[in-house]
Amino acid sequence: AGSHVRSTLVGLETENGIKAMAAHYQRFDPAAYLQYNYTPPRADFERKDSIVPWKLSCLHRAFTEGDINGELLVDIGSGPTLYQVMSGCEVFNKVILTDFLEANRQELRRWVQDEGSSSLDWTPYLQHVCKLEGRGYTWTEKAAKLRKAITHILPIDVHCPQPMDPCALPSAGADCLVSTFCLESVSPDLPAFTRALGHIGTLLRPGGHLLLIGALEESFYLGGPGVKIPVVPLNQAQVCHSLKEKGYTLIRLEVYTLPQDMRVGVDDVTGVFFKWAKIMCMK
Ligand code: SAM
Repeated sequence: AGSHVRSTLVGLETENGIKAMAAHYQRFDPAAYLQYNYTPPRADFERKDSIVPWKLSCLHRAFTEGDINGELLVDIGSGPTLYQVMSGCEVFNKVILTDFLEANRQELRRWVQDEGSSSLDWTPYLQHVCKLEGRGYTWTEKAAKLRKAITHILPIDVHCPQPMDPCALPSAGADCLVSTFCLESVSPDLPAFTRALGHIGTLLRPGGHLLLIGALEESFYLGGPGVKIPVVPLNQAQVCHSLKEKGYTLIRLEVYTLPQDMRVGVDDVTGVFFKWAKIMCMK
C-alpha cells in the first residue's frame, strides 16, 4: 500500500529509483560502515580537522547556543550510529532513533541494552562530547544518560508521506529532528530528496527545529565490501532551495571541506554541510 500511495505522488522514474535504493540497502553492512566512517582518520579526536569532531561540534553548538528545546528529539535514519544524539540528549527528555533496516536497529538496540557486543566502541565519542559540554560528567554518566533518554528505536521510510508510526509521536509532532547523511544517501534524485524533506517535516511541530548534516557532491559510498550505494550529488544552493520549498527557514549553515587524507576511498564526498532550520508551516 505504501508503494501505491507513493506512486500516485511521484514520477515513475523516481519511484523505480526509490525501489532500486531499497534493494541496495538490503546489502548494507553496519559493522563495515562503522569501520569505514567512524574510526581514524575520520574520527580522530586529536585532530581539529577530522570530520567526526567537526560534526560533533556543530551539533553541540546548535543544542547549547540556540532556543532548541522541548520534550522529544527524533533522529531520522540513524543507521548504526549514536554520535548524532549525544548532545541532544542533554536538552530533550526523550530521544527516538529510527532506521529503515532491522540490522541497523538491532545494532542500536545492542548498545542501548548495554549487551557489550556493539560493532563500535563509542567511548571516545562520549568522552569527546563530555569535554565539549564541560559539565564535569564522566563518559559513563553520559552513556547512562543517553541510554535512559532513548525511548524507542523504530522503522522509518522517508519516501512515504507518513514516514513512521504516528502513534510514536505526540499529536503536535516532535520538537526537533536531527538527520545525518540520510536523505541524500537514500534518494535517487533531487526531487526525491526534496520530497523526503517535506515528509520528515510532517513529524515536526510548528516552530520545531531540524538539524541536517549531509554530503556535498557525493555520487556513491560503500555500505560494505563491494556494496556501492548511489548518492544524489548535492550542492549548497540545492539543499537551501529544497529546504525553502518545503517550508523551512534557514537559521545557520556551515560547511566542512574534506582534507585530502580523509578521502579514504569509501566514498567520493568532497564536503559536508550542516544546516539548522526551523519549520513554520508545512508545504
Ligand atoms: N545517520 C547515520 C550516519 O550519520 O552515519 C547513517 C547514515 S547512512 C549513510 C544512511 C541510512 O539511511 C542507513 O542507515 C539506511 O539504512 C537508512 N535508510 C535507507 N533507506 C531509507 C529510507 N527509505 N528511509 C529512511 N532511512 C533509510
